[in-house]
Amino acid sequence: MRKLQMVDLKSQYEKIKQTVDTSIQEVLDTNTYINGPKVHEFQKSLEDYLGVKHVIPCANGTDALQIAMMGLGLQPGDEVITADFTFAATVEVIALLQLTPVLVDVDMVNMNISLDGIRKAITSKTKAIVPVHLFGRAANMDAIMDIAKEHNLYVIEDNAQAIGANFTSRDGVKRKVGTIGHVGATSFFPSKNLGCYGDGGAIFTNDDALAHTIRGIVNHGMYVRYHHDVVGVNSRLDSIQAAVLNAKLPLLDEYNAARQDAARKYSKAFEGHKNIIAPMICDSCDCHVFHQYTLRIIDADRNALMDHLVSKGIPCAIYYPIPLHSQKAYVDTRYKEEDFPVTNQLVQEVISLPMHTELDDEQIKFITDSVLEFFS
Ligand SMILES: *Cc1c(COP(=O)(O)O)cnc(C)c1O
Repeated sequence: MRKLQMVDLKSQYEKIKQTVDTSIQEVLDTNTYINGPKVHEFQKSLEDYLGVKHVIPCANGTDALQIAMMGLGLQPGDEVITADFTFAATVEVIALLQLTPVLVDVDMVNMNISLDGIRKAITSKTKAIVPVHLFGRAANMDAIMDIAKEHNLYVIEDNAQAIGANFTSRDGVKRKVGTIGHVGATSFFPSKNLGCYGDGGAIFTNDDALAHTIRGIVNHGMYVRYHHDVVGVNSRLDSIQAAVLNAKLPLLDEYNAARQDAARKYSKAFEGHKNIIAPMICDSCDCHVFHQYTLRIIDADRNALMDHLVSKGIPCAIYYPIPLHSQKAYVDTRYKEEDFPVTNQLVQEVISLPMHTELDDEQIKFITDSVLEFFS
């Protein structure tokens, strides 16, 4: 059996080595390291893939979120609602811009931001909602857009974990997540569903004026060379990373299907187990692209299961071990523990198993057998 890894980028690379190497070599041969043709090519291909008017590449997913918020003109003191159960980057940029983060609890079934939580958190200062499509599953964008419309709020989708996932609206229209809100942000960190070989990110929007504003912000606030109209940042996707992404984007659907296939096999093995709650899999709609495959372990010792798996050479991880409202950097007297029952429970119960594009049946069986063996 091949060595088990949380994410197996090496086996994936071996299969695409030729295309990736050629694409990188072209950058070296043409010496176009910054803003070269590879970056433009990638931008266009991603716009086509997502069905969105504008993709603005940038340096990483955290920048993408920050720049999206800057582009919307959010001001210090504006309240921005986001989920308590996510990676810290989401709340970090809100705080960095001196906006006021308002963390709300998540839903137990899909682990995405709680709709009731959003409704209760809205005040006259609320300006935006940042749903995170956590672990690759689309948040309920119909409901979130309805709430936003009713209260005149912006929606900034944190799509770092769900690129390629579809959300089917109640009118039957299927759209890529990240393109439904006013603006979306994604990351091409190597382990993400569409990963480069370094750092990378992008912002998406269908709004022409916002896209124009953002294109200036990523480039030192310049709209005309050496005229700095707004305070911007320096956030670029470099050509070598774009070369990798050009080679991988055509494979994204195949990669996501491989993740879904692995998830289905995992879930089948765990079906009906009294201590394991497997993620819900919807066969018809593609709304989950399994950036992570995350179980809840109930009435059993999750940490002991982790030790058991590690002792058998199976990597696993807790995403995320501490709710954001309990993190030192984000504690706030406005938060009460009873406002976060689901997140507080999830951090005790969740465990993520290896999930990537290269898992084979032998590996999956070894992993599921080892999990089941722990309970027997
Ligand atoms: C990875 C990630 C980010 C940040 O992306 P980077 O490219 O690492 O800056 C933001 N939000 C979520 C939910 C993520 O998983």
